[in-house]
Amino acid sequence: MEWVIAGGGFKGILAATILLKKGQKVTLIEKSNALGGVMRGIEWGKYHLDLGCQIFDNSSSEITSYLFDLMQQNIRKVDVNYAGMTKGCKSENYTVPDLTLCKVDFNIIKKELKEIASKPDIKKNETLSDYLDNRFGLYAAKFLKEAAYKKLQYDPTKLDATAASLLFFDRVKLFDEKTSIKLKEQKFYDERLAVFTNNDAMQFYSEAAKFYPFRNFYPDNGGMRQFCDGALEYLKEQGAKLIFEQSIESISKDQIQLKNGDLKKVDRLIWAAELDVLESILFDENSLKQFIHPVPMVVVYFEVPVKNIGSYTYFHDHTPEQLIFRASAPGLYSGQVIDGKSYICCEVPTHLNSNIWLNAKAYINTIWQEACNLKICSGEMPSTYKLLQAPITFKLPLVGYQKKFEKIQQKILKDHSNIICIDPVQTSLTDIASNILKELES
Ligand SMILES: Cc1cc2nc3c(=O)[nH]c(=O)nc-3n(C[C@H](O)[C@H](O)[C@H](O)COP(=O)(O)OP(=O)(O)OC[C@H]3O[C@@H](n4cnc5c(N)ncnc54)[C@H](O)[C@@H]3O)c2cc1C
Repeated sequence: MEWVIAGGGFKGILAATILLKKGQKVTLIEKSNALGGVMRGIEWGKYHLDLGCQIFDNSSSEITSYLFDLMQQNIRKVDVNYAGMTKGCKSENYTVPDLTLCKVDFNIIKKELKEIASKPDIKKNETLSDYLDNRFGLYAAKFLKEAAYKKLQYDPTKLDATAASLLFFDRVKLFDEKTSIKLKEQKFYDERLAVFTNNDAMQFYSEAAKFYPFRNFYPDNGGMRQFCDGALEYLKEQGAKLIFEQSIESISKDQIQLKNGDLKKVDRLIWAAELDVLESILFDENSLKQFIHPVPMVVVYFEVPVKNIGSYTYFHDHTPEQLIFRASAPGLYSGQVIDGKSYICCEVPTHLNSNIWLNAKAYINTIWQEACNLKICSGEMPSTYKLLQAPITFKLPLVGYQKKFEKIQQKILKDHSNIICIDPVQTSLTDIASNILKELES
């Protein structure tokens, strides 16, 4: 079977790897001149900078084994050490919102959770706000919506419920350890409550632990750029045909036409690029775009003497009053230490009309101070830093997105049943990988 994959970002790379392993013929078409998309990051002097904090997570042996193949076994274990801040209170070992340190009434939380658990009919969630209300109860959700706003910079009542996958907090800390562990014996609570697992990070992943005993891993040298370069070598070696600086202009039943006019036979097409582009190629419509809000981000990298970098791998701050959502030390965990220095990364999600977006340079010192307060770093603000303003990072689904997405999928299925499109709003590398596996198996 002739498979064509449009888009050579993480999704496209992984889809190609899975298909090659299954003995299929694969052609990957990438618009730019290199593989990796967002994962490729940027160069800054001798550093390969990742966009934000990107670490692989070993929760499925199948996915981990594909990633190991792509990295040709050049991997390093990362012992993650993280913390979080909720309403100004620091919580060691938790990056998810932790209400146990805040002044909240736990009896109300308990009562509301009990009520939800006792109702067999789960309420339908239209918005992210509904999702949080129905999952954690109205009272706890009030606090969690602040955390959601901090990360997504968008009103949860205007976001589709599927935006929950972008929060990275399915589970939150609502009770002390002892109470949570007890409650987690029931599935309902197990799905909602976070507990500390870092003393045995593979506790809930025994199947994955058989293949690789550690929870997190990363390319052994030089950031995610190394992953992208390794992927290029691997895919070529496995016989994939890679076409760069091209895109698909038109699609017919068993053939595609590229921008340069070349025609290519195709049995199945995987769309791993923007879905609105596919929609306009197939139906001459662009209806999905209005349901997606891209979150702009100010990202600041500081070059810091290693002795001034703290012990955290990353730190999430859910406090709305602070600029940083996440500060991390990718330079250290990627082994990029140059003359006793490395880099840290501070991510500030924002809006295109915010003061920080319009005058980002004026905020560098505040961002450094915040990173110091989070103990990612310490000392005087370094004179060497890189300011990056990324207009499109996370893509938020607005209310109605899911319905629209499903409609388009059905239309594609009806008229072009050989096309598989992967949900474009997924951002977690692990979620993306499991979705691709699901799609290819069905
Ligand atoms: C600042 C930041 C922080 C992040 N932090 C994390 C994190 O902590 N954990 C995590 O799991 N994820 C994180 N992510 C997200 C993760 O890196 C991305 O979700 C993932 O890499 C996206 O992969 P993709 O293949 O969907 O898209 P992309 O990387 O956007 O790749 C799409 C590719 O398709 C190509 N393309 C586009 N149109 C066409 C076309 N018409 N024809 C052919 N090719 C085309 C593009 O050139 C590109 O190479 C972060 C992202 C950012 C920006």
